[in-house]
Amino acid sequence: MSEHATAEALDVAAFRLADGQQIALQEHWGEEGERGDFLREVRDGACDLFGNVLGPDYNAAHADHFHFGMRGYRLCR
Ligand SMILES: [Zn+2]
Repeated sequence: MSEHATAEALDVAAFRLADGQQIALQEHWGEEGERGDFLREVRDGACDLFGNVLGPDYNAAHADHFHFGMRGYRLCR
């Protein structure tokens, strides 16, 4: 059963910064430079907070969003 069914996970596809800039996984994941670095830092930093973090490096189903879940322990891909 999906962690979403029990509200133990959330998916995030994009971030809007205070200056209005939007950083989206679909557009900016893997990009060289600040926006790509930001997304990688979010993924790596989330590993300290969530049980599992899945993103584009995990599989095609997560190509356009991060999955932040409560189950597991530091499963980050
Ligand atoms: Zn999810």
